[in-house]
Amino acid sequence: MTAKQKQLKNQSKNVPGDNQVQQGGGFVNGSIRVVLVVILVAYMLKPYLFDKPQTSAGELQNFTARGKVMGTTWNAIVCATANQLVEINNADQTRSDETIDSCEVLLARVIQRKLDRIDEIASTYRADSEVSKFNASQSTDWFDVSPEMAEIVDIAQKVAKNTNGAFDITVAPLVNLYRFGPNKSPLIALPSDKQIEAIKQNVGFSNLEVRFEPKPGLKKSIPTLTIDLSGVAKGYSVDLAGKELEELGLDSYMLEVGGEIRCRGEKVDADTLERKPWVLGIQTPEVVVNDAASRAPEIYRYVNFNSYDHSSALATSGDYRNYLQVGSFRFSHFIDPRTGKPTEVVNENDSKAERLGSVTVLSKSCDELSCAEADAYATAFFVLGVKKGSEIAEKLGASVLFLARKDDSAKEVSEVFSSAFNSYDSKTLDQFENKDQTEKKQSKK
Ligand code: FAD
Repeated sequence: MTAKQKQLKNQSKNVPGDNQVQQGGGFVNGSIRVVLVVILVAYMLKPYLFDKPQTSAGELQNFTARGKVMGTTWNAIVCATANQLVEINNADQTRSDETIDSCEVLLARVIQRKLDRIDEIASTYRADSEVSKFNASQSTDWFDVSPEMAEIVDIAQKVAKNTNGAFDITVAPLVNLYRFGPNKSPLIALPSDKQIEAIKQNVGFSNLEVRFEPKPGLKKSIPTLTIDLSGVAKGYSVDLAGKELEELGLDSYMLEVGGEIRCRGEKVDADTLERKPWVLGIQTPEVVVNDAASRAPEIYRYVNFNSYDHSSALATSGDYRNYLQVGSFRFSHFIDPRTGKPTEVVNENDSKAERLGSVTVLSKSCDELSCAEADAYATAFFVLGVKKGSEIAEKLGASVLFLARKDDSAKEVSEVFSSAFNSYDSKTLDQFENKDQTEKKQSKK
């Protein structure tokens, strides 16, 4: 740490209840400067000092940060002390000297930087990304890529092998054919079988190789092969940002990007300041007909996570946010590489059929199953369906929850979970609410 930062660090440490992260000041010299900084920090601390329980800079508290990336949103809660964040901020070489950042701004900067990195690599929604350049190339030689890209594709190929090709990133042309990719022009008519067969000639994960040595690279054996990383790269970006927080010594956090979640440690209860486990909710798969949801979003099951030894992950793939409606037909955005068609084509006129609504994959330890892998397996098990998906989940020892809607009213939901799911401390909504009631009654006694 340079002398300047050291000096700033000491100065910021002297400011009472410093909830803000002090930046390089440099306004004026001498005592005026100290007075000015104290006034400015006190003014910025007012909401913290008067409206919130008194938490000193050395006490644990939950800091929140949020942002946008990959066409979706991200949210983070980090349980740390303000002093920890001051240290991190002062050591952060990328920060701008002029601003006095709040702890939340620092966290947003640290997390957004990692998520943006994956957007630059894996987004088919931008022409300058690595994946768009690979897709545009018709060479069948090795194509140099970043280590992160090689890791993402390596994970995708592993899941493809373990699920007999149900997960297959080379489905990109079929994803685009059904308008689930960047091409959002309206689909006039359903693609014909002939059209689908022609496109399927360019699909198949065995036509794609990945290597790390002598340098990271991808190799297509079909010149027109293209890849879509939407089913795995979001989970990978959560792993990357989560590891960054852990390397900075922040071992209690929950980070969610578009429904893929990684968490570690515990949070602090804002009222009692007690440490509590992270409780993650799995949403009931609603039905959205003509953009009108059949029910308000509701949590179906709650799952407790609290380990400091390792980080955990939860990834859900559902058919209720990203779907296509053509006339009375509704398609989910999961493509079965074997048929070349969406796994689910719902004809509104037969709304009585039971249908899979979501698949959630849990991981107790990201060292064993990363958020990226959970993300890809959730997509794969949705494509496989409950029966086949459960068989492979049992074989892999994966913790999986399948939620199916009894019919399109989505008033009734049935669940099927793998045996490994039983080892989680999970409660349905009413069990969770009853537990809450009992706890409230007990605390009154
Ligand atoms: P998941 O279940 O995680 O993935 C389903 C997606 O995987 C499908 O949408 C399809 O793309 C793909 N897929 C379908 N079938 C298969 C299969 N059999 N095997 C493998 N993959 C399959 N969206 C925007 O609207 N604007 C953006 O700017 C944008 N940028 C993005 C940048 C990146 C780096 C990524 C990864 C995605 C981006 N997206 C963008 C897409 C969006 O963020 C989600 O990734 C997408 O909606 C799928 O995420 P999900 O969690 O809903 O579904």
